[in-house]
Amino acid sequence: MATVPSTFAERLDHVRSCVATACARAGRLPEDVTVVAVSKTKPVEALQAALESGVRDFGENRVQEAATKIPFLNAQGLRWHLIGHLQSNKVKSAVELFDVIHSVDSLPLAIRLNRLAKEHGKVMPVLLQVHLGDEVTKTGVLSDDLPALFCESSQCSHLRVEGLMAIPPFLAEPEAVRPFFRQLRELRDKLQQQFPEKPLLPHLSMGMSHDFEVAIEEGATMIRVGTALFGER
Ligand SMILES: *Cc1c(COP(=O)(O)O)cnc(C)c1O
Repeated sequence: MATVPSTFAERLDHVRSCVATACARAGRLPEDVTVVAVSKTKPVEALQAALESGVRDFGENRVQEAATKIPFLNAQGLRWHLIGHLQSNKVKSAVELFDVIHSVDSLPLAIRLNRLAKEHGKVMPVLLQVHLGDEVTKTGVLSDDLPALFCESSQCSHLRVEGLMAIPPFLAEPEAVRPFFRQLRELRDKLQQQFPEKPLLPHLSMGMSHDFEVAIEEGATMIRVGTALFGER
């Protein structure tokens, strides 16, 4: 029987070897897939252990919670990813705390983010969060409204639109999520064809603990992994 990894370092090794295997299947390079360690609800000590194992990309879904942890973790090359819905009254703190925002899903939000990034003297890398067909969550731009959001937000001087993000429904069978991952990739490819003069969208943020291997096969460049690294929440 396979042993269940128990330390953070062992779980990270396991996730990395699954990433490598999925990349090999898809003819992709493991370096092209960033594992974002989703540390929401976990205490600073857990993040410290992750840092010591070499993690540099952390994902948090709440600005307020992140504000209580980020100041306590320091290392070269740390990148904080906001993966949860961003409320307009939290944008200023988000700009100060985070390095990448995965959840831009409306033009008013993009405009506000752009203004506060400018005030903060920062160009903020962002992803546009798309609401895919059957999704239960209410966040994300509808795919019909995505081209307009891309056009407008890519003109914001202090935003750098780098790709798309989605949170497909949780389905017990990872293979059942594949059509959603594929849909996100196709939406990205279509946008690039439709607007060849616009910046490239290299990133697809998709795949979580139980389905990231399928997401990688469909082109994920950022996978957001919580439970498989930090244990159950
Ligand atoms: C919590 C969360 C994750 C991680 O989920 P796991 O199943 O624990 O890997 C990924 N993405 C988002 C947006 C989340 O909120």
